[in-house]
Amino acid sequence: MEVPDPQVNLANGLFVVATPIGNLRDVTLRALDVLNGVDLIACEDTRITSRLLTRYGINTPMVAHHEHNAAAVRPRLLGALDAGEKVALVSDAGTPLISDPGYKLVREAAAAGHRIIPVPGASATLAALSAAGVPTDRFLFVGFLPEKQVARQKALRALIGEDATLVIYESARRLPASIKDMAANLPGREVVVARELTKRFEEFVRGDIQEVCDHYQRAGPPKGEVVVLLGPPPVEEVSNASVDAALRAILDDVGVKAASSAVAALTGQPKRDIYARALKLTKSADPANSTDPK
Ligand code: SAM
Repeated sequence: MEVPDPQVNLANGLFVVATPIGNLRDVTLRALDVLNGVDLIACEDTRITSRLLTRYGINTPMVAHHEHNAAAVRPRLLGALDAGEKVALVSDAGTPLISDPGYKLVREAAAAGHRIIPVPGASATLAALSAAGVPTDRFLFVGFLPEKQVARQKALRALIGEDATLVIYESARRLPASIKDMAANLPGREVVVARELTKRFEEFVRGDIQEVCDHYQRAGPPKGEVVVLLGPPPVEEVSNASVDAALRAILDDVGVKAASSAVAALTGQPKRDIYARALKLTKSADPANSTDPK
């Protein structure tokens, strides 16, 4: 079978196709079939996409669709879909719509009744998360932070209580300034800077946020592209004395069950442990259990 396979029978609609984030061999076989089989490819920069197409011998016509011309080009793409053409949307790298243009096209094409077909593949977010070694059970995609420092600090402060790994896209040039703001506003989090993923100089810089921040203040901006991952906030130690004090404050009013739930939610400690402490407190407060000589 040839790659791309010229026999592939594509449905009509808009294909949202992920492309590599560096290593051109990360393209999927299905992405090649689709890019070869559609009538038109909407891409951010025709020079960048033509490198991928040339590498795999694909000659499909391209049309530029980027941040600055998307509103003007959208009617043409929707018109092509209305006329029964198959259209692929790609970005310069990775998955379209992930900090890349396309959501209005997808929304309008869906509203016009066209099929939207995802063709998944590379994304810097998942590549970074998969190899960083920070918790991945809950993560928040932050995307790009504001470039201006005041707005960036405000955006970071809004993330203080977020109990999740944060995924931040950043330009390498701004990394030292931006990581300094991260260290000041989100202290204690573990950080991983994933740089040049899937490329020759791929690198992961891992550590405490203040140490990594100091490193980039000394070394200056790195070369290439970076994703910054900030692990969840550190869990604060809560003493038994504080747990008991919180329980005592509400036990009489709400009872063992509700008090345990509330204090467990407040402290992040396991509910069954708090429940056991609450039971012990109620028993010791019961005069029938008193050992005091009267
Ligand atoms: N749509 C893309 C995706 O799925 O990841 C992201 C596009 S966004 C305009 C570009 C940003 O993604 C870069 O500034 C960088 O933060 C991140 N990025 C893209 N490729 C990368 C790579 N090879 N290594 C590290 N970060 C990368």
